[in-house]
Amino acid sequence: MRHFPIMLDLQGARALVLGQGDMAQREAAMLREAGADVRMDFRFAPALLEGCALAIGVDAPEAELVALSLAARAARIPVNIAGRPDLCSFTRPPRDPVPFVWPAETVFLVGAGPGDAELLTLRARHLLGEADVILHDRLIGGSVLSLARPDAERVFVGKARANHRMPQDEINALLIRLARAGRRVLRLKGGDPFIFGRGGEEVEALARAGIAVEIVPGVTAALACAAQMGIPLTHRDVARSVTFVTGHTQDGRLDLDFATLAQSRATLAVYMGIASLPQLRDGLLAEGFDPATPAILIERGGSPALRSLRGTLDRLVAEAPAWSSGGPTLTLIGAVVGRGVAREAEAVAA
Ligand code: SAH
Repeated sequence: MRHFPIMLDLQGARALVLGQGDMAQREAAMLREAGADVRMDFRFAPALLEGCALAIGVDAPEAELVALSLAARAARIPVNIAGRPDLCSFTRPPRDPVPFVWPAETVFLVGAGPGDAELLTLRARHLLGEADVILHDRLIGGSVLSLARPDAERVFVGKARANHRMPQDEINALLIRLARAGRRVLRLKGGDPFIFGRGGEEVEALARAGIAVEIVPGVTAALACAAQMGIPLTHRDVARSVTFVTGHTQDGRLDLDFATLAQSRATLAVYMGIASLPQLRDGLLAEGFDPATPAILIERGGSPALRSLRGTLDRLVAEAPAWSSGGPTLTLIGAVVGRGVAREAEAVAA
């Protein structure tokens, strides 16, 4: 073993970050989070090292980084220069200490869950700590992205509904290009990649290009919302199946088999549904669906900012536009909505 792993207590200690740009800022932020008093500069001068317990160099001219490394080592101050093991007296463990070799030309398609890092799988967390480049959607929270390597490139490829977003074929092409360039590519998608996430299209495009893909499942919104609300999606007495449907419209029309949905006693989980809620109600009621069936809108599930609105479909259709604050919202419909552990803070549509 060439290196000896330790965890450093930096509370109140002075630390130097030499460099500029996003990576340097992230290093400084991480050091501050650990309680260090951070000094930043982009030109090296020996005086910068005075009183320092640690020095990190990143994105600075070569000569400055070499000067920092030599001076720090002479002064017995631990020094790390990003991407230059030859200039380091210590290296940084991957955020997860399990050794892992990223296979060549593989893209990992990873479910990030509903946004809270606590709901990531261990595998997702592990891969986040390894990836060189992360392509992510709008719904990915900061707590998840903070698990990425500070020097990982982050590419935001999705935007809010109705706004412009990177077209799917451009995302596919970018994934292929990055994998071929030998980068360790992580495609991070909200919830589960294969539930209304267009993950299937990305897998097909990569397969056509001969690039291996591994899929890591994530906690999908319906599961996160139901768990947080204490609503059992199935219940022996009232619901023996769950149906995930999308409220996304094609040419302004909701393309669902309302007859089947209305007859089944399945719990219905509707994704992307708030704009098309009136069409959903009309379609279900026209097929004899019980208008008294309990339903609930859950906004920003899986986060402390969760809000919910409970009522019949009629009431939700009437109240939703004023109630919504624009966050991602899931609709749960079915007898189970009246079961489980009710949250106290939720609103009830009158
Ligand atoms: N692949 C994702 C779903 C993508 S479709 C998953 O498995 O969760 C996007 C829709 O998912 C949103 O319009 C909303 O209906 C739902 N959604 C995503 N995150 C959500 C959240 N945190 N709370 C409530 N609904 C959410």
